[in-house]
Amino acid sequence: MTEETIFSKIIRREIPADIVYQDELVTAFRDITPKAPTHVLIIPNHHIPTINDVKASDELALGRMMTVAAKIAEEEGIAQDGYRLIMNCNEHGGQEVFHIHMHLVGGQALGPMLS
Ligand code: C5P
Repeated sequence: MTEETIFSKIIRREIPADIVYQDELVTAFRDITPKAPTHVLIIPNHHIPTINDVKASDELALGRMMTVAAKIAEEEGIAQDGYRLIMNCNEHGGQEVFHIHMHLVGGQALGPMLS
């Protein structure tokens, strides 16, 4: 298990972040450098470094990340036009913070995924 990241401090509200949702399993906050009008990160409250480290016991939190993504998209008014959910893993995936996170990106038409 690698050491916890800055995201654990956000979960515990030890450093500032624009938290839009939090419950006993997950936290969602606005990305500090948004790539689109809506850019929210949804993370499990317990530290999982990468998708490679996911276990069956994480399934409840991972499922909650999906339902919270849909809820936030609705609240942001982007559900009908659409949006993208992205999870990066390790170097080739472009992962920079080693606490798994789902990017919810929308509010504009997005280009082809791999461009
Ligand atoms: O998927 P990846 O690891 O590349 O994404 C990390 C994301 O975390 C970046 O979009 C970055 O802007 C965001 N971030 C943040 N607040 C921090 C540190 C990083 O929103 N304090």
